[in-house]
Amino acid sequence: MIFYHAKAQRDLQDYGIQIPLLSSRIEQVRAHLLQKFGAQCLHELSESAEALTQHDLALAHTAEYVKKLFQGGASLDQALLECYECVRADGGRTVRYDPALAKTPLSELFHDLLAEGYGTFKAVEYALQEKNWSFFLGGGMHHARPNGPGGFCLFHDIVVALARLKNNNFKNAWVVDVDAHMGDGTACFSKLLPWIKSFSIHMSNGWPLGVPDQDGARPHIVPSTLDVPVAYQESRQYLTLLKQGLEKFEREQPRPDVVVVVLGADPFEGDVLQSTRHLKLTAAEMLARDQFLFNFFLDRKIPVAYVMGGGYGPLIAPIYEQFLDWALLKAR
Ligand SMILES: [Zn+2]
Repeated sequence: MIFYHAKAQRDLQDYGIQIPLLSSRIEQVRAHLLQKFGAQCLHELSESAEALTQHDLALAHTAEYVKKLFQGGASLDQALLECYECVRADGGRTVRYDPALAKTPLSELFHDLLAEGYGTFKAVEYALQEKNWSFFLGGGMHHARPNGPGGFCLFHDIVVALARLKNNNFKNAWVVDVDAHMGDGTACFSKLLPWIKSFSIHMSNGWPLGVPDQDGARPHIVPSTLDVPVAYQESRQYLTLLKQGLEKFEREQPRPDVVVVVLGADPFEGDVLQSTRHLKLTAAEMLARDQFLFNFFLDRKIPVAYVMGGGYGPLIAPIYEQFLDWALLKAR
């Protein structure tokens, strides 16, 4: 089942934030799936009430940080600007943020994000309950930390979803992250919550930004349960490194009751974000990656929820379409 949340779509440019994380990567995929597979392949969430709550976020994040977000006003704006790397260490604004270009107040972005996080929750809930796979057209906020935002992620939708579902008698969860950027937020959470094991294959350079850190602005980076850094020169060996890494992870970690895959499209060579230039996979290599992961968990009968993670610029939608076309035809 594929989940979509109508209230979760946005273009950051509408808030004056110059980051090319476009709603078209979601809307194009949705239109493509509706046209090709019909309405029955999509579960559409549309009510604005279908959103994460303060209580949900507090299951994963510190009370102080959650309070800062929900009290709104200047403290929320500050967290959002920090999240999208719009403030400098000295408190000034970076060139990324120009409020004069905003069409929508910044505070509305928070409500969109809570709706998006709810989509992740529904996809993970479905995977667990139906013992099947699901895909959410959004989500994957893998840089958020327990006490603050990071790398365009205000809160950690995956950890929030897993924590909310934990009472439903499951023991272990894996977060398998194939976004171009390291899942550094997930790594932090997997230290605090030992029932979450984190696997991240990512560019060996370029993220986290500014590490080793000179000015103390970046928190110390903790490793994932298993990290597989990939150098630019190793782009052609990516699939082999992913296979070897995931098989090692499987040998060393308890079998999960559910897996959340951060299926970032930003390792794709057509991605336009500057910081993703250290990994350049072709469209065929992206499909091979996604098919490998899908078959890996299907063969083991492990429920999986896929979330989108990063993917920047106008060329991203076909990367998800090629995978979902294949997965939905296989599931028939
Ligand atoms: Zn990314």
